[in-house]
Amino acid sequence: MTLIVQKYGGTSVGSIDRIRAVAGRVGASRDAGHQVIVVLSAMAGETDRLQELGSSISARPAPEEMDVLLAAGEQASIALLAIALKDLGHPSRSFLAHQVGVRTDADHQRARIERIDTAALRESLASGVTPVVAGFQGINGAGRLTTLGRGGSDTTAVAVAAAVAADECQICTDVDGVHTADPRIVADARRLDHITFEEMLELASLGSKVLHPRSVEFAGKYAVPLRVLSSFAAGGGTLITAESESMEQPIVSGIAHAQDEAKITMSGVPDVPGVASKILGPVGGAPIEVDMIVQNAGADGLTDFTFTVKRSDYARTLELVRPVGAELGARSVSGDDQIAKVSVVGVGMRSHAGVAMRVFDSLAAENINIQMISTSEIKISVVVAERYMELAVRTLHEVFELGKSEE
Ligand code: ADP
Ligand code: ASP
Ligand code: MG
Repeated sequence: MTLIVQKYGGTSVGSIDRIRAVAGRVGASRDAGHQVIVVLSAMAGETDRLQELGSSISARPAPEEMDVLLAAGEQASIALLAIALKDLGHPSRSFLAHQVGVRTDADHQRARIERIDTAALRESLASGVTPVVAGFQGINGAGRLTTLGRGGSDTTAVAVAAAVAADECQICTDVDGVHTADPRIVADARRLDHITFEEMLELASLGSKVLHPRSVEFAGKYAVPLRVLSSFAAGGGTLITAESESMEQPIVSGIAHAQDEAKITMSGVPDVPGVASKILGPVGGAPIEVDMIVQNAGADGLTDFTFTVKRSDYARTLELVRPVGAELGARSVSGDDQIAKVSVVGVGMRSHAGVAMRVFDSLAAENINIQMISTSEIKISVVVAERYMELAVRTLHEVFELGKSEE
């Protein structure tokens, strides 16, 4: 008998009819002789709604209470699915994070899973009762609720799959697998049968929200067979695999985009040792995650320093760096929160030169100005004005011949 973890996302449980359909699918897997542990997201839009409620009561709502608020979405969806499963004659029960023992660190709103006690899950499976587990939430050492960051139910699913040594973790969603780009932006984006953990981690970290980055990290670390597939249609989806020599390696596997970016520039600061640490010290201490950093060589002993953060951290970051700018005698501290990051990802880039030039040339041909660049062995990221993001994604998708027509 195989043991499968099936995770259903927000759209897949977005209405009562869809929850009934999910119950049907879970039931079918059970009837086929599999043991199933279900992990759920909140119904589509519910986490946003709760977040807005919290933000409307305070400009800076206490993160530990926001976790209690946001976790409520999954509490509702798991109960609804367990009810639907029972109605279909499949014994089932809901599990909140503390009932499964999803232990996390204390970092509210972006907690990391430390361990999962599998006893309750195993007991439930052994008695033929399908567990329906709340994704996204955890419990810290002090017994308080935590959440794993938006999109974090994927990570709950993979962590559960690793803890129970499942045969496969299936991420069931509103697309039929991982595509060469977001199919909402590129109409002829092609579904990939396989993608390596390494590439998937890069795509996810660079904004492809089809998988939460930490879920890919977990799957790679604990060798969890991970598949992304449609909640609505049949099909094998995309299998995330360890690198294999026999597998054909295209130069570029996919294009990712991240819209929720912002940049901050401090210009005319002294070009002396310690400046970067002075500027970024308070930001890192907040803690606010800094992504790209660019500092040019100043001819007149002065330099411009630019870095990017998540758009949601923009206002707070400006507040933090303005006093540093004044202290350093900066000419100006400015920012732009209408930017986006577009990235080209592929392990084949390791053995192929010239990918960067193709990126730069093709964007130039479309008159898209590149504001910042960052590269690694298997990716090239550029920051562009947000209004050019979709054009940039489509242009790069075409230049690297990723579309269906190229098959
Ligand atoms: P869920 O609610 O099931 O977790 P998400 O909205 O988090 O679903 O993720 C699925 C969405 O990810 C798709 O609807 C699609 O728009 C988006 N997406 C972004 N990049 C990709 C990609 N490369 N392949 C497939 N989907 C992608
Ligand atoms: N419900 C949470 C969110 O909307 C977690 C998830 O869906 O993965 O971010
Ligand atoms: Mg998701």
